[in-house]
Amino acid sequence: MTASTSEVTRFDFLVVGGGSGGLAGARRAAELGANAAVIESHKLGGTCVNVGCVPKKVMWNAAVHAEFLHDHADYGFNVEKVNFSWETLKTKRDAYIRRLNQIYRNNLDKAKIQTIEGRARFTSDPEPTLEVNGRKYTAPHILIATGGQPSVLTDAEIPGASLGITSDGFFELESLPKRSVVVGAGYIAVEMAGILTNLGSKTSLIIRQGEVLRNFDSFISINCTKELQNSGVDLQKNARVTSVRKTDTGLEVTFVTNDTGKISTISEVDCVLWAIGRKPNISGLNIGEMGVDTDEHGHIVVDEYQNTSRPGIYAVGDVCGRALLTPVAIAAGRKLAHRLFEGKKDSKLDYSNIPTVVFSHPPIGTVGLTEEEAIISKGKENVKIYKTSFTPLYHAITTRKTSCIMKMVCVGKEEKIVGLHMQGLGCDEMLQGFAVAVKLGATKADFDKTVAIHPTSAEELVTMR
Ligand SMILES: Cc1cc2nc3c(=O)[nH]c(=O)nc-3n(C[C@H](O)[C@H](O)[C@H](O)COP(=O)(O)OP(=O)(O)OC[C@H]3O[C@@H](n4cnc5c(N)ncnc54)[C@H](O)[C@@H]3O)c2cc1C
Repeated sequence: MTASTSEVTRFDFLVVGGGSGGLAGARRAAELGANAAVIESHKLGGTCVNVGCVPKKVMWNAAVHAEFLHDHADYGFNVEKVNFSWETLKTKRDAYIRRLNQIYRNNLDKAKIQTIEGRARFTSDPEPTLEVNGRKYTAPHILIATGGQPSVLTDAEIPGASLGITSDGFFELESLPKRSVVVGAGYIAVEMAGILTNLGSKTSLIIRQGEVLRNFDSFISINCTKELQNSGVDLQKNARVTSVRKTDTGLEVTFVTNDTGKISTISEVDCVLWAIGRKPNISGLNIGEMGVDTDEHGHIVVDEYQNTSRPGIYAVGDVCGRALLTPVAIAAGRKLAHRLFEGKKDSKLDYSNIPTVVFSHPPIGTVGLTEEEAIISKGKENVKIYKTSFTPLYHAITTRKTSCIMKMVCVGKEEKIVGLHMQGLGCDEMLQGFAVAVKLGATKADFDKTVAIHPTSAEELVTMR
């Protein structure tokens, strides 16, 4: 770090946001010899570590324990008296996250990356400069990796909306709500409703249309909707919340069903959780004045090399609004560091075939094009679909059943696999290896040539007819 004037501290690489993308970019840049700094206004690790993937997965693991309790008797275990303590789980989860925060800090210190604590905003200096707590910082290369936050509704939009929480608030809950209402149909709504239900909260999920996960392949979207109901979620379809009200016995959620106009209420609710989307963190950054363009949703517009419209300013991760996933932000941050500090001019992230898992019950794994997308881009006559649906062997002796469904989307005479979509026990862990095959351009014949592993659910993917 050098201070060319008394006021402005200079770095080679200045990163705004110490989340997945920012930390990965800064650390890779430092490894490549850059003098880097990270500005973070909240907690190191960002959304993923503090209010996203990590605590969510801990909660999902707990919910899977609860789910499998239903099968213990069928497997010969006597588990009549089971007590669950949300408080124990939260204490352990929070302690783990605090350890991670510290590990991230140590890693930055070891890499000699300066951590600047506080909220950054661009100044009006001629050279792009950031101000944090009255101090100024600059660099020839500035990365914006400020991520996003849950969208909220105002009380003017829906009376009483502010009585609800978002996914951020979910991780602050000190006890298991007895009665929950989750609003939304995206993956966060599906995951939160699944966790709450399986851990014992009577949960309603209110969705605006007929199915959840509507941007997924319809095979998945329809099946996931069915599995949510199968696991005990009270699903209110084609419905819209009109108000939330505080009463002596808890919250009262009123909603209207679109087609019939029927007005219904759910009373004695302890937790209303809005999971209605996310918006980019750009407020107060002053990026407009910097000549950094945003789209109509406020996402920073970048080219395939993560360049913004202002030379020397780049953006990665959720703030760009594309494939909102931790590994995407990390990979884009690292690729950028190689381009800027190793002279790798072509270093950029390939956004095709990004595998995604939804931690529903059972989990979903998906990579590549949906059937609908393949038909649009390749023509119906060039698309061949293979599908299977079965009950996993795990359920051979259980009263409770979940299904496993798989769809393979192939194109052309060679039947190149352009999409894989599945939901069932183990599909979360199953997907990564198959995603490698899809990325390498595997064909249906390549899958068929691979000897199956028996007895697994995964073997169905190499024996489809
Ligand atoms: C409930 C939930 C579950 C999720 N589950 C998964 C999952 O299972 N798998 C997966 O891959 N992804 C998951 N995600 C998405 C994942 O968390 C994000 O894609 C990822 O964190 C994006 O990384 P990022 O670097 O773009 O931003 P973030 O990780 O959000 O980091 C941005 C950082 O910038 C800081 N910041 C913002 N503005 C400023 C400012 N002006 N000055 C200084 N600092 C600032 C913020 O405090 C934050 O720490 C989940 C998200 C949520 C909400």
